[in-house]
Amino acid sequence: MDDCIFCMITEGKLPSSKVFESDTLLAFLDLNPCQKGHTLLIPKKHCKDIFGVDPAIGADVLAAMKTIGQAIKDVTGCTGINVVQNNGRDAGQMVDHLHWHLIPRFAGDGLDLWPQGKYDSMDEMNAMAEKLRKVLG
Ligand code: 5GP
Ligand code: ZN
Repeated sequence: MDDCIFCMITEGKLPSSKVFESDTLLAFLDLNPCQKGHTLLIPKKHCKDIFGVDPAIGADVLAAMKTIGQAIKDVTGCTGINVVQNNGRDAGQMVDHLHWHLIPRFAGDGLDLWPQGKYDSMDEMNAMAEKLRKVLG
C-alpha cells in the first residue's frame, strides 16, 4: 500500500533496523522502544489488523516469535518478553499494518501493561462466555 510506512519499510523505501527476514515476514526494531530491543514483527503482505490476515501465516509467525524472542533474551538479558498486538485506535493501534510487538521485560522495570478487573459475579462471567460460544458456533 502506497501510504503505509511498514509497506515502505518492507519495500526498502524507508530505512529500518532489520533483525529478521523470511519470505513472508520482516522484523525490525521499534523506533520508540518500550525497552531497548523492542522489536516489531510484520507480515510482508499488507493487511490492516488481525481481522484481515491470512491465518495460513500463523505457523510462520509463531516460529519467528520463538526465534526472535530467544535472540532478544540472549542479547538484552531480559527475563521475560511481552508479545502485544493492537487492533484499532481504541486498542492503541497507530500504524495500520498488522504487527506484533516483542517487548523485553526485566524484574522491576515498572511497565504495567494492564490493570486486572473483575466480573460482578460468576453468573455475569458465565453469561459472557455463553454469548461468545453462541457467536463462535
Ligand atoms: P501500534 O501502536 O500501532 O501497535 O505500534 C506502532 C509502533 O510502530 C510504535 O511502537 C511506534 O514506535 C512504531 N513506529 C512508528 N513509526 C515507525 C517507523 O517509521 N519505524 C519504526 N521502526 N517504528 C515505527
Ligand atoms: Zn502496509
